[in-house]
Order: sequence, then structure tokens, then C-alpha cells
Amino acid sequence: MPVPKVVTRFAPSPTGYLHVGGARTALFCWLLARHCGGEFLLRIEDTDLARSTEQATVQLLDDLRWLGLNWDNPQLVHQSQRTDVYNRLIDDLMARGLAYEAWETPQELAALRQEAEKQKRAFIYQRRNYSTDQLAQFAAQGRKAVVRFATPVQPYSFHDAVLDKDITQPIEEVQDFVIRKADGMPTYHFAVVVDDAEMGVTHVLRGQEHTKNTFLHLALQKALGYAQPVYAHLPVIQNLDGSKMGKRDRDKKVRERAQVWLKTHQKTVDDLATAAALDAPGLGVWIKDSKTQLDLDQQQAVMQAIHLKESELPEILVNDFRRQGYLPEVLLNFLALLGWSPGEDRERMSIGEMVRLFELKDIGKSNAKFSRDKLLSFNTDAVAEADPNRLIAAFRDYLSVNPASPLTPATDAQLAELLDMKKGFRLLREVDELSRFLFVPDDQIDYQPQAVEKVLKKENNQGASVLRDLRQLLEGSATWEAGALEQQVQSYCSEKNLALGKVAQPLRVAVCGSTVSPPIFHSLAFLGRNRTLARIDRCLTILA
Ligand code: GLU
Repeated sequence: MPVPKVVTRFAPSPTGYLHVGGARTALFCWLLARHCGGEFLLRIEDTDLARSTEQATVQLLDDLRWLGLNWDNPQLVHQSQRTDVYNRLIDDLMARGLAYEAWETPQELAALRQEAEKQKRAFIYQRRNYSTDQLAQFAAQGRKAVVRFATPVQPYSFHDAVLDKDITQPIEEVQDFVIRKADGMPTYHFAVVVDDAEMGVTHVLRGQEHTKNTFLHLALQKALGYAQPVYAHLPVIQNLDGSKMGKRDRDKKVRERAQVWLKTHQKTVDDLATAAALDAPGLGVWIKDSKTQLDLDQQQAVMQAIHLKESELPEILVNDFRRQGYLPEVLLNFLALLGWSPGEDRERMSIGEMVRLFELKDIGKSNAKFSRDKLLSFNTDAVAEADPNRLIAAFRDYLSVNPASPLTPATDAQLAELLDMKKGFRLLREVDELSRFLFVPDDQIDYQPQAVEKVLKKENNQGASVLRDLRQLLEGSATWEAGALEQQVQSYCSEKNLALGKVAQPLRVAVCGSTVSPPIFHSLAFLGRNRTLARIDRCLTILA
């Protein structure tokens, strides 16, 4: 018998950028399909009209493209455009007595749930019979019915390919569930079953949070006459402290830092609210209650007020990693190891190797720990080994998602030079931030007061007088090239009996505003004579 082609799918709900959990699911689906010579399909599950946005879909696709997880269906499937298909099937189930209209309001259901809770029993929906009068009353009230699936009461069981065991739903948990919502859209459960079948999906890989949903899907598959795919529920991704990794982690960090800010600056929440132009009572609730979250704009406002940089927040979304300057191939390699191990302690792998080695049986059963240090060390090694052209392309991409960086207009040759100056870097963001002074206009260098004090003013303005000498020296230098400039400054040091640091530091502060920069003579060469002298002059004027 011919072996059927493996078909996997990634089915995100477009409610925001892709997070690492979603990316790991997409990667495993993609790897399995590529390993088996099968197909990897992409479907947008946008039946939740209130939460799905077109912009989120665009962002998701962009993230997947950045990771290189290409999908095989030329036409994207949007569930929101398939309501006719779902409705036909739902009507048919109703005609067969396998689905029915239910009229309880969300409030009535919540009350029933509460009642069950009080009695310490699980809430199981019981089908109601409505009288003609009741139905007329509902219609008059403008109530909208949902459609529930009349789930045949029997045990539902499947083999989980990750846990490598059969998982069975206790029969007393079987209940009728909603398949069409009051707004006319199918529920996730219904649409996912129909689409997986219609798209010929043979292997469903998804997070463990979906394990129990699978029972509902099996019941629907039987009623609709569909084949059952292989199910593999992937382990949970956790922070190192065992908490579940999620978007809340960023909010948590902002709250912690805001609390520190209030304390160290002896400020009140009202002060913070004013500084961030936010509503004080709302901010007051957020600062105390870790269950609340700021939305993205509010978060940005607080961060600005307390001088918390985005790069200090833990990355959660694929886009966060991209904006930090990780290489996508590194992120993929790292994500692959969150639950999968090809054996023999093998860790660093190219994408080709991962495709060759990936097998479902090697996905682990236990939770995966997300170690940022490990990811960072992967990236550090990978950029050290990368081909210069690869790095330039990656830097360009980094700048495309960091459009506010002054490096944006840099030429490829300049980017290559910057990368070369900062050899041993971990993230492209470091190269960017450390090189920005080379791209800002000469009259906009910010002089760090401590640097000026320590390096230029101390000991009776010794640094400033060195700077004056250097200005003259540099003005007259025959060639403007890193090696030659260094030699000239070295001779000056010997002549004056000064350590190189006593001379290089004033120069550094004058051209870049702080005591940290890429190699100083390369920086001077990069800036050119005129810009270097202009900066020294401005610095001396400020000191005078
Ligand atoms: N839209 C669902 C989600 O994003 C898909 C789950 C599944 O793969 O079945 O969680």
C-alpha cells in the first residue's frame, strides 16, 4: 500500500504577533512535513471576530517569512471566509438530529456554572426542551440561539504521539458543546475539524493546552465521517523558574521596574501617571495587582517615563527577538530544542540538519525550559562564524524593524565596517547601539556628564588639554587611516610620557560622548577628519 503523504498545518488565531510557543508549533509542523517530503499548510483561524485583526495576520505572515517557515498552500485559508461551508454541515447535522439550537444566555450559563461549583461538581451542560411559548418569548426578546453538537455519550480515546499513550475522556465528562456561536460564526472546535479534514491534514501538532479539545474533535469527526489524524500535543514552554512563558512576563518586568523607580526617586503613583500621561487610578491598580496588564501603548508610556529600554524586557514574541538582532536560523535551532532532541547531545544544527533528523518520536514528554542565556550564546557563536554577507543581510533586516536607528541610511560597506569593529558581539542591537554616535550629526552628540567630569575635567582639565594637543596633531596628520592614526597618538603618548588610556579616553569622549565605543582609531577613520575635528571643537567649546 502506498504510504499517504504527510500533511501538517499551522493554524494561528490572528490576535497579535507570533509568540515563541506558536513559532515552535509552526516549526515542528514544518520540520515534520519537510522531513517526510510532505506538505505544510497555513490556515488563519479568524472566527473570533472581536479579537482577530487583519494587521495581526500580516504580522504573523511576516514573522513566519522571517523564520523561513514557508507554507505550501498558494491560497491562504481564512476561516472567516468559509462560513457557508460550515453552515451547510451544521444544518445537515441538525437535520440528522445531531445538533440543536440552545437558547441560554451567557448569564444563565454562568449561573448554572456557579451553581455546580457551589455543589462541588463539574458543570455538564444538560440539553433543555423549550416550550413553544418559551421559544416565542426568546424570539421576542431578540435572543440569538447557539447550535450545540449532541455529542454521543461514549468514551473518546486517541493515541498521543508525544506522550506515546492512549488518552481517554471519562464518559461522565462528555457533553454537548457549541459548534455555532450566537453571531453565526462556527466555534474553533467545529471549524478546526472541518478544515483539517478538508485540507487533508494527516498530523495535528499543537500545544498541550489543546489535549482535552481533541476529545470534542474526535466526536465531530465521527459524526461528519472524517478520518482521524495523528495527534501530537507539544510540551509546555516554561521560564527557568517554572512559570509558563507568556506575554505577561514583559508586563511583570515593567511593573517591577516601575516599583523600583517609585522607591528610588521617592515618587508617588500620581507622579508616575503625570510623567507617563496616564490615568492615575488605573495605573494605581496596575502597579499593585499583578493580574492586571497595561496595553502596549500604556506600557510604552510607562517605560519612557522610567527610562526602561525595550531591550531590557524579556523577549516573548518572535518580533521581539528580531528587533533585538537575533539571527532567524539561531532562533529556529533554539526553538527546535524546546521539546525535541535528536539524540547524542546534539544541539547546534543547521536547518538542513534539523530537517534530516526530525522525527515525532524524539519529541520529549516533559516541559521545556526557555533559557535566554543559552539562546544568547547560540547567537554569539553563530554571528562569530557567519559569512560577512549573511551578517550584512541580517543587519539590514534588523534595521528594517528598528527604523528609528540612525544607522538606517548606512551603506552595506559601512555596515560591514561596523560589524568588523565590534567583533565578538552577541546581538545586532549591540552593534547598532554602540555605533549610533557615528551616524548622528556632529552637533548632536550627547556628552555624558560623568564622562566629561572624569575624563576631561579631572586633575585640572588635564584631559581637555590633551584634547587640544590632539586636535592639532590630527589636523596635520598625513593619512587618515586607523593604523596610522594610532601610531601618531602612540608617539604623542611616549613624548608626553602618558599612558594610552589617558589620551584615548579624552578623544573617545569628544567624538562619541561616552567612555565606551568601538575601537577608537577605527571610529575616527570611519568618521573622517572633518567630522572628528568638528566634534573635538564642539567638545572643547562646551568645556570652555
Ligand atoms: N487557532 C488555534 C490556536 O491558535 C489552533 C489550535 C490547533 O492547532 O488546533 O491555538
